[in-house]
Amino acid sequence: MKAYFYILTFGCQMNKNDSERIAGLLTKIGLKETKLPEKADVLFINTCSVRQHAEDRVFGFIREWQKFRITKPNLIVGVTGCLPGRDKDGKLQKKIPGVDLFFPIVELPTLSRRLHELNPKLFPGSFDSVEEYWQIEPKLDKNYSAFVTIQNGCNNFCTYCVVPYARGVEKNRPLKEILQEIKVLIKNGCVEVTLLGQVVNNYQAPDKENFSKKNPFSDNFAALLWEINQIKGLKRIHWTAADPQHFTDEQIQALTLPKQINFLHLPVQSGNNQILKKMNRKYTREDYLKLVKKIRKARPEIALGTDFIVGFCGETKKQFLDTVDLYKKCDFDISYHAQYSTRSGTVAHKMFKDNVTREEKKSRWQVLQELMVDTTFKKNKKYLGKENFVLVDSFVDGWCSGNSQELKLTRFRGTPKMIGTIQSVKIVKTDTWILWAEKL
Ligand code: SF4
Repeated sequence: MKAYFYILTFGCQMNKNDSERIAGLLTKIGLKETKLPEKADVLFINTCSVRQHAEDRVFGFIREWQKFRITKPNLIVGVTGCLPGRDKDGKLQKKIPGVDLFFPIVELPTLSRRLHELNPKLFPGSFDSVEEYWQIEPKLDKNYSAFVTIQNGCNNFCTYCVVPYARGVEKNRPLKEILQEIKVLIKNGCVEVTLLGQVVNNYQAPDKENFSKKNPFSDNFAALLWEINQIKGLKRIHWTAADPQHFTDEQIQALTLPKQINFLHLPVQSGNNQILKKMNRKYTREDYLKLVKKIRKARPEIALGTDFIVGFCGETKKQFLDTVDLYKKCDFDISYHAQYSTRSGTVAHKMFKDNVTREEKKSRWQVLQELMVDTTFKKNKKYLGKENFVLVDSFVDGWCSGNSQELKLTRFRGTPKMIGTIQSVKIVKTDTWILWAEKL
């Protein structure tokens, strides 16, 4: 009998890539993916702990799934991701009844053995040959664009963040393996890769001897970008999320490599030096502004994205105005705004008071939202009449949609056959979140 699995994913692109690896592993041992939780024999939830709200939703889904046990007494419910990762004392696990598997993502290689132990009938065979996390082949939804994880964990310990506790210390993937994975992806039709890591531009190859002799860079991340640029068949390279403190001149130079897309995500979090210090971000607003200036000098048309946290412990109105000022100076193309919520286990939770009111956080968030909409709307006008290249992602009612070189959603009249290809277009109308175009 064929067994089915269902995966629900919360959180960032790293989590999405982890879910692709869970799906890859489950497919390898003979299960089939379903989009219907009620049909599944194995239900997985890949959790995110960055916000309290995301964790609360996990509890709701697990409760809801228990009703499937009436018709499926052998149902297996699994929880992985950040929540088990940061549950060092087992308290969180005790709070969620009805879970059969509870493990941090680094223990993914043990999944097939654990399933066998739970239900040897459904999962026969020996699963003793434990694979390395990196070696588990992800099961991709689309073949033309893929995430490639180059690093796991983080050593930065920003005071508000659970990631170093949930994912552990930084571990870099061997260069040889990264290049090999990309080559296999290209063979299967991939034209765009997004490199993932918590502090992606702090990448340090454990196998430096594998860098080509011709590689002009000594900074390991810039050198990695150069190596990937040499791979035939790949058209676009994107990476997320860079840390300003690790951004080197060589990395700025690597932004001009031919396959690098015209977008950079550079999280800043706050525009005020005292708040940055309290957050343990190891740069100042002046450092950040200087970096943006250098980047724009090297690649003047690059679109910039960032992240902000508003209402961090003790943030005054005046300090928030520094953030607004920094926003205006940097002229971001897109930004993601979070209203600070304290996370247990972090330094901020232990040391600082979460004392900005909910209303104040919301109103600061609103200020940034409005600023973003206004800035982006104005900035997009510069694309009018210009040529761009779109990687087509979908086709609905005669319209192709996909990302431009700046990762801006672009729509034009096309055909379903264009999905997965890069099309040259001319922008004919601009909105805040959509560029309308004609096929060239
Ligand atoms: S760099 Fe800071 S915010 Fe990013 S994952 Fe590491 S600790 Fe968290």
